[in-house]
Parts: sequence; C-alpha cells; structure tokens
Amino acid sequence: MQHLDGNVLAGPLAELFAFDPTTTSARCAGCGNVAILAAAMVWADAMGYVVRCADCDSVLATVVEADDRTWISLVGISALEVPR
Ligand SMILES: [Zn+2]
Repeated sequence: MQHLDGNVLAGPLAELFAFDPTTTSARCAGCGNVAILAAAMVWADAMGYVVRCADCDSVLATVVEADDRTWISLVGISALEVPR
C-alpha cells in the first residue's frame, strides 16, 4: 500500500472542522473524562486561552491569537467526538 500526502485530508477535514467546537465531546488524555468542550474550565488573557479538564485540571488545549494567525494545541485531548 502506497502512502498519500496530507492533501488527501482536505475534503474530510474541511467537513469535520465546519462545526461549533464547543459542542464536541473531548476525552481528557489525563483522566479519560469525556465532556463537551463547553463544560471545560477556560482561563483567558491577552495571549489567548488555556482550556483545562473540569475533572482533573489537566490542560486540554491552548489557543493563542497573534497577528493574523491562531495557534491551537489539543495536546491534552486524546479524542474528539464530532456530531455529524
Ligand atoms: Zn481530566
């Protein structure tokens, strides 16, 4: 089986990321808790946002807005459940 490059993901990922992410369920990589992102604890300042698990306080995600770009890390989310 030959591999493809990342361009093959353009269609499927464009569909997936066209949603309100706060309605998705995220599984915490730290404790395994599954909850909608809207239920997470969020700290915000001028640099951006730190999203923490409401059960174990692990960092789920960070969002940093700088100039004309947004940097998103989902480092503490082991899986997202996206409604279709
Ligand atoms: Zn957790």
